[in-house]
Amino acid sequence: MTGAAAFLYNDDFMLYQFGPRHPFQPVREKMAMDALLSLGSLDGSSGKVVVPASVDMEQLYSVHPREFVADVERTCLASGMLDQGDTPGNPGLFTGALSAVGASVRGVQGIMTGEFEHAFNPAGGLHHAHPTSVSGFCVFNDIAVAVRYLQREHGLERIAVVDTDGHHGDGTESIFYRESVLTISLHRFGRGFFPGSGSMEDRGEDEGRGYNINLPLPAGTDDNLYLQAYRAIAVPALRAYQPEIIIHQFGVDGHYRDPLVGLGLTTRGYAELSRITHGIAHETCDGRYMVVGGGGYNIDATSRSWAIMFAGLSGRSAEDDGRIAALHDQEQLMSPEAVATEVDRVIRRQEEAAIPMVEKLIRFA
Ligand SMILES: [Zn+2]
Ligand SMILES: [Zn+2]
Repeated sequence: MTGAAAFLYNDDFMLYQFGPRHPFQPVREKMAMDALLSLGSLDGSSGKVVVPASVDMEQLYSVHPREFVADVERTCLASGMLDQGDTPGNPGLFTGALSAVGASVRGVQGIMTGEFEHAFNPAGGLHHAHPTSVSGFCVFNDIAVAVRYLQREHGLERIAVVDTDGHHGDGTESIFYRESVLTISLHRFGRGFFPGSGSMEDRGEDEGRGYNINLPLPAGTDDNLYLQAYRAIAVPALRAYQPEIIIHQFGVDGHYRDPLVGLGLTTRGYAELSRITHGIAHETCDGRYMVVGGGGYNIDATSRSWAIMFAGLSGRSAEDDGRIAALHDQEQLMSPEAVATEVDRVIRRQEEAAIPMVEKLIRFA
């Protein structure tokens, strides 16, 4: 059973940009919405556009200290550099960053109040942002602010954050490293690859021990291997954890045509990834499932992947709809043998270590 899905969209999303030659281009969000409008998936019956407000500053301060936020605002107004060199500020960026966070809070709020069942914030998923540092095109961590809102305003105790961006969700991991928020990240991993963190042995500390699961993958991982890892580790971890809501960082820079990452996924892999996770949300938490964006630097592949995912949330699939099938990639990739061997090693290690830990924690919780 699928209820209405909200596509969150605010014109201020377009202000979250770093110039015409920067890889991050917010127009992909508008393109995904336009594709869904022409499919009829936003006509109000099973999917609709919801216009979120900017974030309430007190909510933002639940993750990012007031002085840091003021510093970011000053740097943006002065068009200064916000990190080591990847994330240049400009006067509109601060407004855009606030709108991205506001949309993630609006998404979980609407889900909790039953206004809609699922939500997608294409401007969210800014998972490299740390409490007091900007990193990798991410100014504020909208996922973490949404989690704090759910904990404080709705008293939730079991929130799952699944991160399937091509990069490790390092900001999100560090914010919840000592808490029982379940964080699962699948990402390319290897020498020199940004942000460098995300190893299997980083499992959380103190109260958070066992609640952080990393699946570091080699370059060239294809749909089948990626989904094998997801089914073997992420799915049983989510089932054991029995979340009250699932937040899914759905950056799609692991797409084979992405210029920055080098993984080998196609739109079919991404469609299956969202189909599986959407199903787990219905199985474990009455369908409470919020998807946020993230990376995606091939604009065309990103907007198609997101449109197909959202069409699925609103109850449509490529099997019964030729217009959705037409949005899919025609090619399918196959990883070389060495890649399959490495993914297999990662799966076996986490089957032995991560899954029993989560199962044990939940039994004694
Ligand atoms: Zn549903
Ligand atoms: Zn990324």
